[in-house]
Amino acid sequence: MKNKCRICGDFKDKESAFQKYGSENCTYLPENIKNLILFKDFRPGSDRSKQLKQCPDCKRYYLYETDYEYFAFGSEDEQILTRLTESEAMKLLNSI
Ligand SMILES: [Zn+2]
Repeated sequence: MKNKCRICGDFKDKESAFQKYGSENCTYLPENIKNLILFKDFRPGSDRSKQLKQCPDCKRYYLYETDYEYFAFGSEDEQILTRLTESEAMKLLNSI
């Protein structure tokens, strides 16, 4: 195996986070996700985004999806980051 990537080496194959307004049980994605570069935005300007991201260091692809539910007593936000193989990323790009 190659050396662990300094940006995304600690990411799990699937990372998810969930925040509910006013709740203490919120979880967040790893800090390093902000270092991934946006490769393709499938739903620009949407509350429910779907983006293909790439690590600038090791060139791995990630699918980043967010969801948003509005509730009168506390909206919920969810983010999911999934590591993709190169062929999965290419399949996704070709499907649009
Ligand atoms: Zn990386």
